[in-house]
Amino acid sequence: MEQIDVIVIGGGAAGLMCAIAAGQRGRRVLVLEGSNKVGKKILMSGGGRCNFTNTHTEPSRFISSNPHFCKSALSRYTQQDFVNLVEKHRIPYHEKALGQLFCDDSSRDIIAMLLRECGETGVSVVTDADQIAVSHKHEYTVRCSRGSFSCSSLVVATGGLSIPRMGASDFGYRLARQFDLHITETRPGLVPFTVTGTLHELCVRLSGVSCRAAVTAGNTTFTEDLLFTHRGLSGPVILQASSYWSPGEDIIIDLLPGVEATELLLGAKRTRPKSLIRVLLSDVLPKALVAELQTLFWPSYQHSPLAEVPDESLRQLAHALHCWSIRPAATEGYRTAEVTLGGVHTDELSSKTLESKRQPGLYFIGELVDVSGQLGGYNFQWAWSSGQAAGQVV
Ligand SMILES: Cc1cc2nc3c(=O)[nH]c(=O)nc-3n(C[C@H](O)[C@H](O)[C@H](O)COP(=O)(O)OP(=O)(O)OC[C@H]3O[C@@H](n4cnc5c(N)ncnc54)[C@H](O)[C@@H]3O)c2cc1C
Repeated sequence: MEQIDVIVIGGGAAGLMCAIAAGQRGRRVLVLEGSNKVGKKILMSGGGRCNFTNTHTEPSRFISSNPHFCKSALSRYTQQDFVNLVEKHRIPYHEKALGQLFCDDSSRDIIAMLLRECGETGVSVVTDADQIAVSHKHEYTVRCSRGSFSCSSLVVATGGLSIPRMGASDFGYRLARQFDLHITETRPGLVPFTVTGTLHELCVRLSGVSCRAAVTAGNTTFTEDLLFTHRGLSGPVILQASSYWSPGEDIIIDLLPGVEATELLLGAKRTRPKSLIRVLLSDVLPKALVAELQTLFWPSYQHSPLAEVPDESLRQLAHALHCWSIRPAATEGYRTAEVTLGGVHTDELSSKTLESKRQPGLYFIGELVDVSGQLGGYNFQWAWSSGQAAGQVV
């Protein structure tokens, strides 16, 4: 049996970063990746350009049953630390809206960078390592299709449940349970909503139409683009809201964020009295959407000039445009979710090292832990930061 200092199970963002940090400290490190390639999610991320971090990273951008847990790791390996690494490797990147940093060319640049760092620090990476089984006596023994190994530190970085066709598995959660660690309930996050009935018919007719909107789920509001799809609602604002939504709850859509709809409608009644509501609203919303909204929000005044619509009806319409209440049927689930909410309970882990409190030498990092980021590069930053935190001590 081959003796190694550190075994990292899972060659994704967090696992590779942890391996590099441990390798830099002179530890003998082996990464066991179950699929035929490392970093498949990095490859598909950000539309192929990997939104690798966000300049606005701060703890409030993360969802966890303990909102303080992520602070230590995020403060010790920051977004600027990762940007420095990207710049050291001369990877061209740019900032999109909201502090999101993307590769100019391809996500492949990030994977190549991580593999080069692994090479320079003597980290061994083994792919197609499936059927992994772990046992523990004085050390950890890891048996898999690629051999049997023993190590003093075992890092589990097998990610969440989202996108099963990309190799996502429940391995990490099962391993945590094997060592009696508590898991908070997992559910899909950053995921589109499905709807049923007449709302579904409306979404099908509007499929492909998008507009800026503020969407509230729970007590949290996001303002970004909303997209109607054949299944329901998507776009960045919906993905963000989905992580704060509980089944059976309504979401509130403000179709005119930052606009005083009452003033707009009452003002237009004075200045454009002959105008139809549909024509007026088509200046600020997509025409196809306005055509659908008129049967929902002002059915009695579809053909009336503004001058003939009572002020009170215009006020009610303004309210409807700012507070469109919709009950999603469900989310699209792990098939399309960008992230898995919940995971290994933060009470079980040291926030400084990500080591299990009850099982010394066993570490859980990345998406597997009950820390999930909002949309915009935050999930990778958590993977880098938590990977570094463990990599410094294993
Ligand atoms: C479509 C999509 C786009 C995304 N875009 C972005 C983005 O632009 N920015 C951002 O911040 N986040 C993005 N995310 C989220 C981000 O990809 C994840 O949060 C991040 O990859 C988590 O890193 P991780 O290392 O914890 O897990 P992963 O990157 O999922 O890595 C886990 C690794 O473990 C391996 N593995 C799984 N099971 C086993 C097993 N049993 N044995 C051995 N190996 C195993 C997997 O094959 C994988 O290589 C996106 C996610 C998706 C699905």
